[in-house]
Amino acid sequence: MARLRNGQGAFVEQICSFCGKNENIVRRLIAGPNDIFICDDCVEVCRKILTEEDHDLSTQFTGDIPVPKEIKKYLDAFIIGQDEAKKALSVAVYNHYKRIANPAKDPDDVEIEKSNVLLIGPTGTGKTLLAKTLARKLKVPFAIVDATTLTEAGYVGEDVENILLKLIQNAGNNIAAAERGIVYIDEIDKIAKKGENVSITRDVSGEGVQQALLKIIEGTIASVPPQGGRKHPNQEMIRIDTTNILFICGGAFIGLEKSIERRVVQHPMGFGADTREHTAKSLKELYDAIHPDDLIHFGMIPEFIGRLPIVVCLEELKRDDLKRIIVEPRNAIIKQYQASLAYDDVKLDFTEDAINAIADRAIKQKTGARGLRAIVEKLMIDIMYEIPSIQGNKQVVITRDVVEKSESPEIHHLQKSA
Ligand code: ADP
Repeated sequence: MARLRNGQGAFVEQICSFCGKNENIVRRLIAGPNDIFICDDCVEVCRKILTEEDHDLSTQFTGDIPVPKEIKKYLDAFIIGQDEAKKALSVAVYNHYKRIANPAKDPDDVEIEKSNVLLIGPTGTGKTLLAKTLARKLKVPFAIVDATTLTEAGYVGEDVENILLKLIQNAGNNIAAAERGIVYIDEIDKIAKKGENVSITRDVSGEGVQQALLKIIEGTIASVPPQGGRKHPNQEMIRIDTTNILFICGGAFIGLEKSIERRVVQHPMGFGADTREHTAKSLKELYDAIHPDDLIHFGMIPEFIGRLPIVVCLEELKRDDLKRIIVEPRNAIIKQYQASLAYDDVKLDFTEDAINAIADRAIKQKTGARGLRAIVEKLMIDIMYEIPSIQGNKQVVITRDVVEKSESPEIHHLQKSA
């Protein structure tokens, strides 16, 4: 074991920084940075604290479910716009956990059905963010999985049960907590059936996966291989009940709007009929008219759609929404940079026009709000590189020219505040 020398060059004893025990009376003393040590006893105490916290997670929702208005208010702090989606989700989630907290006692009682959610909306509009923020508000384990990695049993890819493994891991291997968690399945539209006639060449990634997911989403006792990957015989499995897990599926469903349009827009017939006014339906108007048949036409199987009774549509983000996203949310990208640069004695400001320019660039890239981070990151690289070497209090102002022409921003030296 390494020992430190004191100022006179003599060896000094090492002690646990948490309980103060000497290295001679503990079994192990693990070294951290800056002469910090922890002994095996203290590691064990920490493990117990963490396990107890996990256990607390699993015992939530006994009468302490936030009401929909409170959930929505929380979502408002992180997600800009998408008001209808936030409202619908707050209600769905409240009902879900109310149902868990009050299970039907008598077989004759009315049984409230599980309300899994389908989120539909263009990329980068906040689907994943909504699911993630909900889980944080409810303090439940949460996992994001990608439907495109899943395949039907017997094919190369992952068994559908692996989506539960991620949830279990994120719950610190506490099965009871995982059983009340939320799973967000992204890119659900990518497991749509590829065409009407799929019986000759089997549709490995489409219908079969939907079939396999059905049971898990509805509620079953699933067997999950602890190491992930493919199940194989003689392997010990983790058993988990999915009845109370809330599944939120999300996808962009590109082209779905065309199918809705075909159904809802009554094309006028006859000579001289004017078709122009019928073509200008917004994405929101079309989504408002969505019907399960549209999703079936898209390639989702009816049984699967039946397990996702709550359909929530997200709107495309407009320029004003993007501008708000840059500055407003609690962890807005600009706030993050301002906090980070404050450590280097920098006051970072963006002009209104710079924010307009960032939003315009994101619109051009058609990546929704997802592109915003990359745009801001790119223009901050040089500043983050240069500024720590400049002494004193400074102010950096990002203008439209810095965004559009990659000009270096002005750096003003500030008087040290008293
Ligand atoms: P998707 O709809 O494709 O799932 P995400 O939720 O992953 O989109 O959004 C990507 C990123 O864009 C988020 O991490 C967040 O920073 C930002 N973002 C997207 N939509 C919003 C929104 N409505 N409000 C605030 N930030 C948003």
